[in-house]
Amino acid sequence: MASVLQCMNCGQRYPVSSVIFACEVCNGLLDVTHDLNALRSTVTRQLFDSRLGSLEPPYNSGVWRFKELIYPDVDPALIVSRPEGNTNLYSVPQLAEWAGVDTLFLKHEGENPTGSFKDRGMTGGLTQARALGMKRVACASTGNTSASLAAYAAFAGIEGIVLFQNKHVALGKLSQALAYGATCIAIDADFDRNLQLVREVATEFGIYVLNSVNPFRLEGQKSIMFELLQQLRWQVPDWIVCPGGNLGNSSAFGKALHEAYELGLIDRMPRLAIIQAEGANPLYRSYQNGFERFEPVRADTVATAIKIGNPVNYPKAVRALQWTNGVVEQVSDQEIMEAKALIDARGIGCEPASACSLAGVRKLVDQGVIKRGESVVGILTGHLLKDPDATLGYHRNTLPGIAGTHRNVIHEASPTFDSLAEILSSTVTA
Ligand SMILES: *Cc1c(COP(=O)(O)O)cnc(C)c1O
Ligand SMILES: [Zn+2]
Repeated sequence: MASVLQCMNCGQRYPVSSVIFACEVCNGLLDVTHDLNALRSTVTRQLFDSRLGSLEPPYNSGVWRFKELIYPDVDPALIVSRPEGNTNLYSVPQLAEWAGVDTLFLKHEGENPTGSFKDRGMTGGLTQARALGMKRVACASTGNTSASLAAYAAFAGIEGIVLFQNKHVALGKLSQALAYGATCIAIDADFDRNLQLVREVATEFGIYVLNSVNPFRLEGQKSIMFELLQQLRWQVPDWIVCPGGNLGNSSAFGKALHEAYELGLIDRMPRLAIIQAEGANPLYRSYQNGFERFEPVRADTVATAIKIGNPVNYPKAVRALQWTNGVVEQVSDQEIMEAKALIDARGIGCEPASACSLAGVRKLVDQGVIKRGESVVGILTGHLLKDPDATLGYHRNTLPGIAGTHRNVIHEASPTFDSLAEILSSTVTA
């Protein structure tokens, strides 16, 4: 049986050729559902390992190496790939020590072609746009989705349209969307409103929506888990920790792990920890009351990539937490920027939202949820260069309400030997 679109709520099925973003019966979220029984005999660790180091498209991509689990039936000629993925997994003993665990890895999704994990979703989304013959694609974005959409649309020769807030968009992301030639529309509204607007105009203007409500994006993002497991020689870590904004990524992680387990690629489930910013924490609040109530919040955080008050993938994230016996935690902007400064100073670097992963590990260890001896993988979602204002503001100590506790202060020297000598004598370590 070929893959279908399936409502996660009522189970209604639609052919993958349908241009729909919600169930027509109950308005529930859609999954791309693959025939796991049919895949069982072909999908093995050996198959995926045999493609490592391949120079041939599409298997040179860290997404399409796992094609059977992403979009098995798609014609390879339609695939729009940069190629993405193949990101590094760093062992970080000093940061592990700071967080309070023996074993910590950071998987750096900022090493994707446009600097965030969104590229893994966008290759899936643009491929489907091409399969459907769509001429225009669009998204609402806090920044990284628009940068990625703009690049992949240009690469595919399709018009890219991005809607973003007319303030607080990180400089790196805005400049990317402009440079890649997308139609850029700044609106005096927050992310949540802009997402509604995109969905409202889509049908009339023949636009294919590529926010994470689009399930083909999530299929691509599943590959973060498959690649991570492969890098660990298919040994399952105890914990996987990631930031949560619109909750597409955590939803994709849950589906990936569930499928990997069903297909026997792994023999147990890791636990998922989703970390939100205190100022944008609707999932955390709902987790606190046992998922009985869900209330959107008005979002505000220095981590603009997760400044989202009404996450569209909430039901899928809850499902991911149930599949993985997962937990949700929140961290303050102070904790986020401090963890970022430490990741940056190791020479690895990330944007603010990504640092939720490390800040969250430390907090969960403090609370006794993560044990020192358990192995942990944190996901870094975006590149250091995405948000230079946040980095400079931290080190200049000009971010409102945030103390620059790990500042790297720029020295001022006059153009003389003596002036330089004074500084260089004072900074010698050991
Ligand atoms: C999009 C994004 C997130 C949030 O991911 P969701 O899937 O929306 O939860 C976190 N960090 C970065 C850098 C992002 O670009
Ligand atoms: Zn339904």
